[in-house]
Amino acid sequence: AAKGNGCGRFAFYSSDLHQAAEDRRALEEDLRDALARGEIALAYQPVVNARSNMVTGVEALIRWTHRDRGAISPALFIPIAEEANLIWPLGEWVLRKACEDAAGWPGEMRVAVNVSPIQFANPELPKVVAKALAASGLSPDRLELEITESVFLGDTAEANRMFKALKGLGVRLALDDFGTGYSSLAYLQSAPFDKIKIDQSFVRGATEPGSRNSAIIAAIVALAEALDMETTAEGIESLDQLDLVRKLNVSHVQGYVYSRPVPCADLVGHTEAGVWTIKPSGPARQRND
Ligand code: C2E
Ligand code: MG
Ligand code: MG
Ligand code: MG
Repeated sequence: AAKGNGCGRFAFYSSDLHQAAEDRRALEEDLRDALARGEIALAYQPVVNARSNMVTGVEALIRWTHRDRGAISPALFIPIAEEANLIWPLGEWVLRKACEDAAGWPGEMRVAVNVSPIQFANPELPKVVAKALAASGLSPDRLELEITESVFLGDTAEANRMFKALKGLGVRLALDDFGTGYSSLAYLQSAPFDKIKIDQSFVRGATEPGSRNSAIIAAIVALAEALDMETTAEGIESLDQLDLVRKLNVSHVQGYVYSRPVPCADLVGHTEAGVWTIKPSGPARQRND
């Protein structure tokens, strides 16, 4: 522990950093064989039509249950996977598993899969997507790929080629975490998105008096409508937040107020006569799932 002089403090910070680097390396090592050990799974969170309470699809969210440490957040291990070249095998597994599960669901139910910018930058991505569709027999319009604004930081011509190739497969594209990243709207001119996902940071606090967030949400909805895109408000936890985004004409809603991400088998509980409906239920009590 650090006390007193500057040297001591330096030593404290330096060993802290050292510890963090060690932790990260250990996680990276364990992540290498996490798939083979069966520690990786998918959880699914319903995406609900804001007017009808009908479930129109689900988002697939990766889960890692570490043998000693238990659940590890994707916010922690996805960046490690991206740096350690592990996002490609993990991403391919997620695509295959999500398509396979979704092929067994009723009706028009869609599945959304998060695609890392690293995957998006790889010209092999359309092939991997096509293989997952073919292996599962899932109709391409039932698969939605979620990408973030950071893909526009790279080569624009390459990005446009990738968009074309993916749309050519017949899959849907969603822009995830909108408004939190690269702050240019120019890419919306040409990028063929079917949906904009409004980041949960805009929902946080939107119901507080004097908050400007509802003005921002309204502007995003107007933009999406003008461009003929759907909107999903992410991270809706309370009935007040649900009320607000409904008033702001958001087309779809996702959040703990409807359901936390759950294992595939638990989704069946929402099925009634081949149609999935779900009722919103009070404010969520815990934040972590
Ligand atoms: P995301 O794609 O924006 O996913 C939404 C996150 O919000 C999920 O966190 C979800 O569990 C959480 N969430 C949903 N409803 C609520 C709510 O009402 N309140 C709160 N506080 N949170 C809510 P999760 O599962 O921890 O995933 C975090 C991020 O990790 C994802 O953000 C996504 O960027 C990334 N991720 C997850 N799965 C994958 C994957 O298979 N591949 C890649 N490349 N990234 C993934
Ligand atoms: Mg997402
Ligand atoms: Mg998001
Ligand atoms: Mg996010």
